[in-house]
Amino acid sequence: MKKEFVVIGLGRFGGSIVRELIELDADVMAIDISSERVDEYAQIATQAVVADTTDESALKSLGIRNFGHVVVAIGDNIQASILTTLMLKEIGVEKITVKAQNDYHEKVLRKIGADQVVHPERDMGIRIANNMVSNNILDYLELSDEHSIAEIKASDKLAGATLIELNIRARYGVNIVAIKRGKQILVSPKAIEKIQREDVLIVIGSDADIHKFEKKALH
Ligand code: ATP
Repeated sequence: MKKEFVVIGLGRFGGSIVRELIELDADVMAIDISSERVDEYAQIATQAVVADTTDESALKSLGIRNFGHVVVAIGDNIQASILTTLMLKEIGVEKITVKAQNDYHEKVLRKIGADQVVHPERDMGIRIANNMVSNNILDYLELSDEHSIAEIKASDKLAGATLIELNIRARYGVNIVAIKRGKQILVSPKAIEKIQREDVLIVIGSDADIHKFEKKALH
């Protein structure tokens, strides 16, 4: 069975989620208060509906409760974003992801029970900055204020050595959780796995340890 999602708010962020979900073969109900925005998605989404999602009866009549995961991508109108999240929570939606505008917005969203709060602009800024500082860091995903997962290009310096020889966890405090090798992904690689030049290492650790590893181990 196809996965079913609802996306509320069809700005650039919400719109790109709709397109990608459809690309990934999911069913998507796309909702916006603006009929022009909804028209744009009529041919793309499985269903595109004009509705004001701060109106509880409108939400109920759309049968949103039956969808497992709802994304609230209402940007500037913080009040509408909070009210919508609250209504979704009240009608018993299982999982709610909300785009936050700032830290205060996030705090309120968490208090009222949003399961996942995202800051797309801030997170993308962090990823791009990390990639700018080091060409070896391909991607960077914050897990908390201090811990992250990074995708790091292996270097000539590491190539040919096994994980046990490199003793990365003891020396740098980071764990290699997977290795991307071409199209292949080696999850939880064994200690005897030999690193190859073109490998991409997926490492998890504190930000400080990840940067120490990137500086000391690769150059
Ligand atoms: P992005 O940065 O994602 O491009 P944006 O600035 O385009 O965001 P906004 O215009 O702030 O985003 O909001 C996204 C969408 O949410 C808009 O298309 C807007 O019409 C819609 N929206 C706002 N309030 C409501 C509401 N109460 N119910 C449904 N949709 C709403």
